[in-house]
Amino acid sequence: MAGARRKRGSSKREARPRGLRLPAHVRPVEVDVHVEVDPARGGGFRGEVEHRLELDRPVSRIELHAADLRVSRARLVSGGRTRRGSLALHPQADLAVVSFAEPVPAGEATLELGFAGSLRSDLRGLYGARSGERAYAFTQLEAADARRFFPCFDEPAMKARFALSVTTGSRNTVLSNQPVAKIEPLVGGRKRVHFERTPPLSTYLLALAVGELEASEAVLCGDTEIRVWHAPGKGHLTGFSLEAARECLARLEAWFDLPYPYAKLDLVAVPDFEAGAMENAGAVFFRETLLLVDPETVTLQERKRVAEVICHELAHMWYGDLVTMAWWNDLWLNEAFATWMAFHVVDTWKPEWKMWLDFQHHRSAALAMDALATTHPIYTEVKRPSEATENFDLITYEKGASVVRMLERFLGAEAFRAGVRAYIREHQEGNATAADLWSALSEASERDVERVVRAWIEQPGFPLLEVKRAREGASPALVFRQQRFRGRAAGKGARQAPEPRWPIPWVGRLGKPGRGSQLERRLLEKRREVLVLGGEAPRFVYANADEGGFFRPLHEDAELTVLAASRADLSAVERMGLLGHQWAAVRAGRAGLPGFLDLALAFGDEREPDVLTTLRGPLGFCVDRLGREAGPEAQAALRGRIAESFGPAFEAAGFDAATKEDDDARLRRAALLSLVGEIAEAPRVAAEASARCERYLAERRSLDPNLADAVAALGARAGDARRFDAFLAAAEAAATPQERRRMLLALGEFRDPALVERALALTLTDTVGTQDVAILLVRMLGNPAAREAAWAFMKRRWPKLRRRLPPMLVTRPIEATPALGTRTARRDVAAFFKANPVPTAARALRQALERFDLDAELAARALPELRRWLGAF
Ligand SMILES: [Zn+2]
Repeated sequence: MAGARRKRGSSKREARPRGLRLPAHVRPVEVDVHVEVDPARGGGFRGEVEHRLELDRPVSRIELHAADLRVSRARLVSGGRTRRGSLALHPQADLAVVSFAEPVPAGEATLELGFAGSLRSDLRGLYGARSGERAYAFTQLEAADARRFFPCFDEPAMKARFALSVTTGSRNTVLSNQPVAKIEPLVGGRKRVHFERTPPLSTYLLALAVGELEASEAVLCGDTEIRVWHAPGKGHLTGFSLEAARECLARLEAWFDLPYPYAKLDLVAVPDFEAGAMENAGAVFFRETLLLVDPETVTLQERKRVAEVICHELAHMWYGDLVTMAWWNDLWLNEAFATWMAFHVVDTWKPEWKMWLDFQHHRSAALAMDALATTHPIYTEVKRPSEATENFDLITYEKGASVVRMLERFLGAEAFRAGVRAYIREHQEGNATAADLWSALSEASERDVERVVRAWIEQPGFPLLEVKRAREGASPALVFRQQRFRGRAAGKGARQAPEPRWPIPWVGRLGKPGRGSQLERRLLEKRREVLVLGGEAPRFVYANADEGGFFRPLHEDAELTVLAASRADLSAVERMGLLGHQWAAVRAGRAGLPGFLDLALAFGDEREPDVLTTLRGPLGFCVDRLGREAGPEAQAALRGRIAESFGPAFEAAGFDAATKEDDDARLRRAALLSLVGEIAEAPRVAAEASARCERYLAERRSLDPNLADAVAALGARAGDARRFDAFLAAAEAAATPQERRRMLLALGEFRDPALVERALALTLTDTVGTQDVAILLVRMLGNPAAREAAWAFMKRRWPKLRRRLPPMLVTRPIEATPALGTRTARRDVAAFFKANPVPTAARALRQALERFDLDAELAARALPELRRWLGAF
């Protein structure tokens, strides 16, 4: 818990361990970069960079970052004198060190360097990508890969103004953060494109795209021109993202009360991209699936995700780009806020999308990760770049956003917004730490924000809040006790350290006598607290209203019975919470499986699609893991019980949507099909889905798009080689990026062993883009008929596969290994990655191994309970 012990005052610069951080007395102010690159004519690039520096004191050496580059011709101009520097590269530390025979005086100096490198194939630094026959170069520089593009001071606090120029073939489009200042035609069919100088930016926010790209018409938001750029021929897919960008940008400008900070806004669809999207200032890069949309065939889920991701990136223009965290420790300042802001803003744009229900799925995954002993605090010590890369996870984003949301609800929307506005104004074009934010929020709200929020940011884990009814004299009362929620009940590793404590801004929903409910608030700071209620005893108590707090409530058994019966009085997100917390209690050994199954199967009449979707994970685990261990008959019986509960609702909905049906009805049908078809494998439904899949492959419009994922998966499970070929052909000919992705991922659902091997072999070919390899492997590790073959393949082909798994994505298949289940597999996974370490996945591996253990303990506990619950097994 390094974060909690550290003294974190207002100082902007933290201690810099030698060799890991650049010294603070040499700072870049203006940087001119020229790069020559033409992806169609080979894989190399070269350039020159000029850093205008401020030296706080005389220096005889200057350190800056460079990795996988050839660096040459070091010269320094200072006080009208030019000096030659001698260059030494330290690849272990990603450093280039320029030394001078005699000290360079303090003040201004200009450092010039030449550099050269190769376009990479791992989607970072300056890398090569293809779309059909066309070749491209793109940058992806966060967290610390600007040093793979050109030699630079690659730390977020080293902001400078950059002027970029690019020499390339004249048919290429060149995009960067700023508008083009001028284009110089050159001999030999080439040109040099000069961009305007940027405002102060951190290196990780620079952007470059080179290749044949087309642009949409510009749409305006105030004075800002917004364009979508894409590989040629995809212009008809840009309408929705332009609309979403304009709607979100206008709302963000109003929320921050500050205009969009950059000169123009380009949204670029990148054919091969590691992240979902990247908030390069003024030139945001996206996966094609998250930007290019056909309104006729896109699912509502996909459309919502596109809007949310666009809004997330645009929120970064203020939160991250204009005001940047001082160091990667506070990455959450960027990501937690952008995540929260995206849900908040899209929710105000499209209230009918119920974005906070989507958020609940993410929050629930973050709660699951944060229950592990191997979790980490939101604020995490970062020394090396690989550690910064590891922190792009559920804790930084989704737990972070949940804590921001809890804080906003606690302070009130007005005070919260006023505090954030003041913080952004005060630190614009600079860097800030969490302490700066707390002081702005405290001032705006007149509350001691730091006292409430620090524990949530600096301690790992979250509280379990036990709630019991009591009486204080004549009045009804609630007694609260908090302790850390742990993924395993007791014993191993539990309760060695002093039990942490959190100030909980508590809001509960209390059932009024008769009908209706009311909210109660209290800041719970002690381990045990009593809340005396006026009037009659509440009909029910739900101890996390609107799931606004990042904790799990633990209700008494009697209360749970009342809550299940009163679930119509709970909001949809609370029903999701009720199910999620109950499943977590089963996993942690605090509740029995039968109680959960009874509760879950009582939701057959549920109207809200997201509540039904909440059941997928838990019921999927029960069937796949517990059912498998209990034997085929027990597994079939469990499937039968699930089909019995949800089948009638699906039969009533049918496969075909009525013409005037609303989104909820369509999504509910899809959620039910997933439960009855994919999890319960009800024979009649699965057979019908397979027949529908055949029609869908021939004619996409034969199916409501919202059913496409489930129908494709069920069709693949029952499919033969001919259908495999049909999916493959459909992927290659797909009209939209989402369709291509759907068809490719369906290849991971086949069950025939020969087809499993074919799908695995494709991960080493260009049929599956580098960006999709990890996702297809995850799909196959989740497929009971493919997972062992997938793991054997990963081990066998690791060196080749590793080159197609970029640093952030490589964690995904590792996180998915616990599905392998057995103790032998756990040993095998541990041994394999000990022999083949992956630095950016060190934590993901520890977490995977812990999940193996938790799953095994759960299975041992729950198996006899499942048999009893089923009756005869
Ligand atoms: Zn982000």
